[in-house]
Amino acid sequence: MTKSTGEKARSRNRVQQIREGIHLRSLKARKKVEDITKDDVKTFLRRNAFVLLTIAAVVFGMSALDSHASGKMGMRAVIYYMTTTFIAVFIGIIMVLIIHPGKGSKDEFTKQQKIEQVSPADAFLDLIRNMFPPNLVQACTQQFKTQYSKRIIHVKMIVNESIFNLTNTTQEIAQEEVIPLPGTTNGVNALGLVVFSMCFGLIIGNMKEQGQALRDFFDSLNEAIMRLVAIIMWYAPIGILFLIAGKIVEMDDITEMGGQLGMYTITVIIGLMIHGMIILPTLYFVITRKNPFIFITGLLQALITALGTSSSSATLPVTFKCLEENNKVDKRVTRFVLPVGATINMDGTALYEALAAIFIAQVNNMEMNFGQIITISITATAASIGAAGIPQAGLVTMVIVLTSVGLPTDDISLIIAVDWFLDRLRTTTNVLGDSIGAGIIEFLSKDELQNSDVELGSSVLEE
Ligand code: ASP
Repeated sequence: MTKSTGEKARSRNRVQQIREGIHLRSLKARKKVEDITKDDVKTFLRRNAFVLLTIAAVVFGMSALDSHASGKMGMRAVIYYMTTTFIAVFIGIIMVLIIHPGKGSKDEFTKQQKIEQVSPADAFLDLIRNMFPPNLVQACTQQFKTQYSKRIIHVKMIVNESIFNLTNTTQEIAQEEVIPLPGTTNGVNALGLVVFSMCFGLIIGNMKEQGQALRDFFDSLNEAIMRLVAIIMWYAPIGILFLIAGKIVEMDDITEMGGQLGMYTITVIIGLMIHGMIILPTLYFVITRKNPFIFITGLLQALITALGTSSSSATLPVTFKCLEENNKVDKRVTRFVLPVGATINMDGTALYEALAAIFIAQVNNMEMNFGQIITISITATAASIGAAGIPQAGLVTMVIVLTSVGLPTDDISLIIAVDWFLDRLRTTTNVLGDSIGAGIIEFLSKDELQNSDVELGSSVLEE
């Protein structure tokens, strides 16, 4: 049946009214949210803590790569750390995208955004622009806008239209909105800050004695911010219990949340196992042509200590002992590679941070686009470099990853329930990564080690 012109006009009118209704309600909702957030100390603290945390943690982490990095052995270590960390992040992302542990949330009640007209080239260019902000101070307070910042998005939402005499319907409307670019959120260019902090940290690390004052400053700033963030995370949401309870009520279904957390835990375990039991041993075998499992058997005591303490730093003395006594790795290698590795090389933490961020996006029904996934990879790497080798440090630096793609930092509370357990597993992976790295670097540095008659220290190994 074809509609008459009158009917068509009426239905057009109705659609128009619906749109205005949605607009009005969204304005009212926004006003309410603005009223709450205006004086919200938590948000204020979180944003400021984020900027400070990023700068302090990443600058300090990178400065640990001191002047040794200019030597051959240092260069090998850096290449090994970066390669394995990126592989770990990649595995984490692939696992969470394939297994999709956060699925099952009720899509129809949430706003679904489908970003259109974003070519990969645009997303890539946005990413590059945000990596190098023209003004750093501005990057802390304002997101960097580009010609690509305007996108058409399709918003799908349930509309209760009783006032318009219609039943509930799902409406898909097109809006032109300024959306955050990859790597920016809450008015902060997170990616720009991370990239700057990495470069700055590297420079401080290369300044030898001259850089010591700055290293100490960022060390102590890092410690202070870590404590501040820990307080905000634990006390501001009036108790983790209430937050989780709230989420469960929101989801209407306790078993669904439990199921998602269970799947999330399994996904992290599978990811860590692939990295620790397949990728790292394969890499060791390909490079050294030696049996990786004999090498790993020599490390058992260190791995069990990591599992028990959840701290790569606390495990360090045992890691030294296992590598030097059981696996006979040269002391000149372990004394250089292990302390630096325990600070900046955290494959397990990087894998976990990327995976957890995408899981939180899935729980919130937010689709991550290409640019956002790249942003997560970069920030998860930086966050793992910035995390100290102590229990649950990775959970604190998660703030960097979540904030960079606009995910709710409060949702860290969702995963705290299982973190005591996952922390143990990722710490074990971190220690395994450092130890296998020491074995590989010793093998590659054979010639320099033979030609050198110095007992400890790597000065002779430098170019
Ligand atoms: N606990 C980990 C470690 O010490 C860091 C983390 O929380 O991911 O290696």
